[in-house]
Amino acid sequence: MDRLERAAGAVVGSAVGDALGAPFEFGPAGAFSARFPAPGAGGEMCGGGGWEAGEATDDTQMAVHVAESLLERGGLDLPDVFARFRRWAADDPKDIGLQTEDVLSRGLPWDQAADAHHRSSHRAAGNGALMRATPSAVYFAHDGRPATMEAGRRLAALTHGDPAAWEGTAIFHELVRVALDGADPLPALPEILAAVHPEHRERYAVVLDPHWHPDQATEFNGAVWPCLGSAVWALRTTSTFEDALRTAIDLGGDTDTVAAVTGGLAGALYGLGAIPSRWMEPLHVPLPGSGARVLRLPHLLDLARRLVERVPGPG
Ligand SMILES: [Mg+2]
Repeated sequence: MDRLERAAGAVVGSAVGDALGAPFEFGPAGAFSARFPAPGAGGEMCGGGGWEAGEATDDTQMAVHVAESLLERGGLDLPDVFARFRRWAADDPKDIGLQTEDVLSRGLPWDQAADAHHRSSHRAAGNGALMRATPSAVYFAHDGRPATMEAGRRLAALTHGDPAAWEGTAIFHELVRVALDGADPLPALPEILAAVHPEHRERYAVVLDPHWHPDQATEFNGAVWPCLGSAVWALRTTSTFEDALRTAIDLGGDTDTVAAVTGGLAGALYGLGAIPSRWMEPLHVPLPGSGARVLRLPHLLDLARRLVERVPGPG
């Protein structure tokens, strides 16, 4: 399997997880397999809760804005990414995370808004930066571990002032990099943890430990630590893309985001060919903040290719 197959798997896999999990958001554990008991049976991309079948949510919408900024600006242009996020937030997306909305609506500059939110709320370690990290993980994988982890931190910091959210996003970036190189990312976790900021290392070591189970989480899975831990657990305890996603959504809670994160990792590991085509066909990404564009599978595949090859310019 080549790198492009894995990168496309990551980008599409994350969007598929987002759309598949969205109708089950804030629902109980086990709801997905209660409704769809047999893997492979079909009909799982069902819509509901205000979402059309196959419709991706804010997770993927923000991820696409990051991707298009990286490609059009030829690299990391944080003020540009922030401006795109603000245009998106002002264009009435169907869903937007609480912390993200507060930061983007403050009217403060890109390098002050998230920090101001963090200082006033003391709650800024949501999973809202982790959820949109797949395209940047693909793009910066090219530059090696320190650079991709640092890019993950800086992109997370645009909306999340708590460094715990930065470190979780950095870990995700590095897991994707390892997988794109063709290796199993899980055995790399000890090395990756060694590259995490010392203040945050222990808490991530707990949720990424091979013996950790999502039942042991001390926060709702809308927080960055159990979200990342649950995605890695879903990857570790299954052996196919489909089962990883079913397992992630069956945790309940913030199902679209846990599944988007799981889908990014599982897609990078297993490749595009492992994603059920019946999940890709109805997939679509409405994109507030950029006219009335709606991206479909061919657009996402083109985006993934350009992120790998770093083909600059607009789509
Ligand atoms: Mg969402």
